[in-house]
Amino acid sequence: MAADMEMFYGLCCFGVIVAVVLVLMWFGFDPPRILGNPDDTELVVPIPEKQMVRVENPFFLELGSRPASVPGGVSIRPSCLEPSVLTCFWGCEVGALQEALLAHQHGATLRSARLFQDALRLRCSYCQTFHVGSEDREELHTQIPADRGVRDFGPPPRGRYPLVAVLTFGDSEDGGSYNIVASVTVVHVPDDKHNIPARILFEYLLTSQGNVHKLMSIFMAADGSEASEPPDPQPGSRPGGQMEGGGGRVDEAVGDCVVCRGAPVNRVLLPCRHACVCDGCMLHFQHCPVCRAFVLESFALTRPGAAAR
Ligand SMILES: [Zn+2]
Ligand SMILES: [Zn+2]
Repeated sequence: MAADMEMFYGLCCFGVIVAVVLVLMWFGFDPPRILGNPDDTELVVPIPEKQMVRVENPFFLELGSRPASVPGGVSIRPSCLEPSVLTCFWGCEVGALQEALLAHQHGATLRSARLFQDALRLRCSYCQTFHVGSEDREELHTQIPADRGVRDFGPPPRGRYPLVAVLTFGDSEDGGSYNIVASVTVVHVPDDKHNIPARILFEYLLTSQGNVHKLMSIFMAADGSEASEPPDPQPGSRPGGQMEGGGGRVDEAVGDCVVCRGAPVNRVLLPCRHACVCDGCMLHFQHCPVCRAFVLESFALTRPGAAAR
């Protein structure tokens, strides 16, 4: 009797084991994903592709060579493809700039570059205007007059940007063939309360359709050996330069894919903006091979002159 029961339980256990094996064979045995390196396996969900934007930017602005300070002023070197107007808004309220950018994007009220500037003029400490010819490349010096008594903009965090420099077209507001109607550059200028060196903080391009592109550098290897970040990734763009991926800047040489070494780099990973892999290797990565940042999106990198996709 006891032997029969033992045999019955034995058969039951065997049946359960066979059933488990059959179930595993049917659905396939997959080790838990968390144990493996995510880069070793093919992506289950493809990384979304961002639409590329290509525009010709007629405006360029960089800081001049002279030392900069709020009481002593700052030198700026604009270079533009068309006759342009440079307006320097000293002590521009942070909220005023953000509201004007939003209004340009979402409303018809501030569509023209002139209205954009009027919105800033009312909420800055001092405003100075220069005319810039298409051949002009010399440095301009802008400064708050001493009788205004502005020596600094207070300790951080601050409610005002030291300087917002806006470039627009001189004669025709729409700029003829250009899609870009204004470039807005936010500049830090040192003073006694916040004494870090002068530099460009942000740069935006405004389009005639009411879009605002924030310019950001794309990091890539210049010599094709090792992808590395430039020591000072200062945003900016040459006049006539190509801007891609919704506001990137591409003007360095492009090297080989850091993974396979067999194909040229033609993918930019977002949000880290490293251009380091080819299309083929892109499929196998969920993390950037350079900085290990999680890849949320990517866009194709095409050189000027390459066939349009
Ligand atoms: Zn590759
Ligand atoms: Zn990266």
